[in-house]
Amino acid sequence: KNIYGISRWGNGYFDIGDSGDIHVIPRHDQPNLKINLAEVVEDIASAGIQFPAVVRFHDILRSQVELLNTTFRQTIAEANYQGQYFGVFPVKVNQMREVIEEIVDAGSSFNYGLEAGSKPELIAALAYNTNKDSLTILNGYKDEEYLRLALLGLKIERNIIIVIEKFSELTTLIALSKELGIKPVIGIRVKMMVKGRGKWEHSSGERAKFGLSMTEILNAISLLKAEDLIDCVKLLHFHIGSQLTDIRAIKEAVQEASLIYCQLIKQAVPLEYVDVGGGLAVDYDGSQSTNDSSCNYNLAEYVADIVYGFGQNCQLAGVPQPHLVSESGRAITAHHSCVITKVIGEIRPGNTDYATEPAQGEHIIVTNIRALADELAAPNKGTNLQEIFNDVEQLKSQAMQAFNLGILSLDELAKVETLYWRILNHIETQLQQSDYIPEELNAISALLSSQYLANFSVFQSAADSWAIDQVLPVMPISRLNEKPTKLCSLVDITCDSDGKIDKFIGDDEVAAHLPLHSLNENQDYFISIFLTGAYQDVMGDMHNLFGRVNEVHIFSDDDDPKDFYIEEVVKGSSIENVLSTMQYTPAIMAQMVKKEIDKQIAAGNLKPREGVNLIDFYDNCLLSYTYLN
Ligand code: PLP
Repeated sequence: KNIYGISRWGNGYFDIGDSGDIHVIPRHDQPNLKINLAEVVEDIASAGIQFPAVVRFHDILRSQVELLNTTFRQTIAEANYQGQYFGVFPVKVNQMREVIEEIVDAGSSFNYGLEAGSKPELIAALAYNTNKDSLTILNGYKDEEYLRLALLGLKIERNIIIVIEKFSELTTLIALSKELGIKPVIGIRVKMMVKGRGKWEHSSGERAKFGLSMTEILNAISLLKAEDLIDCVKLLHFHIGSQLTDIRAIKEAVQEASLIYCQLIKQAVPLEYVDVGGGLAVDYDGSQSTNDSSCNYNLAEYVADIVYGFGQNCQLAGVPQPHLVSESGRAITAHHSCVITKVIGEIRPGNTDYATEPAQGEHIIVTNIRALADELAAPNKGTNLQEIFNDVEQLKSQAMQAFNLGILSLDELAKVETLYWRILNHIETQLQQSDYIPEELNAISALLSSQYLANFSVFQSAADSWAIDQVLPVMPISRLNEKPTKLCSLVDITCDSDGKIDKFIGDDEVAAHLPLHSLNENQDYFISIFLTGAYQDVMGDMHNLFGRVNEVHIFSDDDDPKDFYIEEVVKGSSIENVLSTMQYTPAIMAQMVKKEIDKQIAAGNLKPREGVNLIDFYDNCLLSYTYLN
């Protein structure tokens, strides 16, 4: 049960039940509420919804929002900190309407707001963040239209803070505020000197893309004082990168930012908030380390470092402790969704057999490799597996050379290949009974490993695995009380050899193979890719025109016999949808194909009834799901 490390990466949300199925425990305050993921899959299938499918657990989203907010509130109370916590969720991390609605609703009693980084995100935030006591933080580069929209938000009494990312935004904002007669609420993003840790460490330092240098900040303050707008500056912002793997980066950033804050207060800048940005990491591989897919701290430690760090430095400097804002996105959404797909085939080297009986006048290489196979089939005490492995490797390479020189026939090469794989299989079986495996022979399992073909697209559903080598937890949803007997990598159905997952959670380091169960004709084998709810959930691309997958929204309900119900299904892309986004007009395409079929009917190559069936079939395919049936 511990093979897949579920207790280490699951954050308490996933467990394995006695039945060998994965259980989802979506609410930390109700540990007895357990949803059997295999039953969720059954319900999805019986509702006629095809896989692959994204399954969203709304209660996990709510739990994460509550956890973040209560941890800040409790730590603030324990530390006797004077400011309050006003978290915001960065819309870019998961822009799906249902996700945003759930987060805003779960956060309403905590005055939890939204962060937008572009005009479309601001337009969404204006509509959905209606709580007057929560913040809307505006990051990202801004043109005049973006700033006008922000000022419109202030007119409708939204708590909008416009964060200045580069100096020229300030001059435009000052001009607009005069034109419209609206006083903006301004935040200033500082280019921090401290380096983040992890994949996004370039988000800070002198070469950071966003933020003002200290000189620019001082110039901005002079300008705002001259324009009599200094009272509009309310927030100091920093962000040193997402997925900060090492807590030291957070401690250092808090130290630097708190000193900047204290200095600015002393220069009569009326700051009220400090925004620590995002960066709170998710332990995807469960190693609790500074690996890129992990982190060496937990939420409580992260929050304590921020609250106590600002608290102490402000106390020492004798300045008021600011309200704290954070923009955690990954940590809020990663756990709530998973991608479930069915394994539809196995690609295993040497899986096909070929008659290897001796033939008259056969090449000596064939005879020699057959002799090795015979020796292994009837092993005696003296059989040396390493020696056989060395010999068989040499014979195989000789066979390839001989074939290329025209000395070995295709039939003989097929015999060598068949015997080669048979021998490796034999060695592997015998190694399973031995106490010690020589280093070189360890490679045999990898050579013999299978590729499980799963009905999904890595580019659409696990983009981070492909693009940034993110390790994601992958495991079967059932049969978890049965020992997996195969080492596998996963390949998807795209026509792209990059369409694979071959980085899995290993014992001490990333593993190229995942232990899985052998496929059984009478039972579907579903696997799930977990922690997919942040970024990649909405960043997936249309490679091979596999579009968005079906989405199923699950709510827990302890009055329901299964403890859950499907609240909503969002249909994935049909073939017609994906073609339209690429500028095709499916109705015209159907006419074009019909014309060709009519020509064949007219030429007598097709019967009219056959022609009509073909046209219907083409039309139906246009409406169908892009993935395999
Ligand atoms: N805020 C800003 C300005 C960001 O650029 C990001 C992402 O990089 C975030 C917040 C969200 O960060 P995370 O998902 O690590 O919490």
